[in-house]
Amino acid sequence: MGMFGCVVTVLVYSFILTPRDDGETRCRRCGYILKGLSKPECSECGEVI
Ligand SMILES: [Zn+2]
Repeated sequence: MGMFGCVVTVLVYSFILTPRDDGETRCRRCGYILKGLSKPECSECGEVI
């Protein structure tokens, strides 16, 4: 199980450390996905886009 645990740890870390570029536009301040907004500001933190 030692080897298995090591592999899992590497996979988890690579997942955490890989920046997720999913094509969504996100707020620069809080990372909220800016989708379907009625005005050009983040609905989560109020940051102007
Ligand atoms: Zn925000």
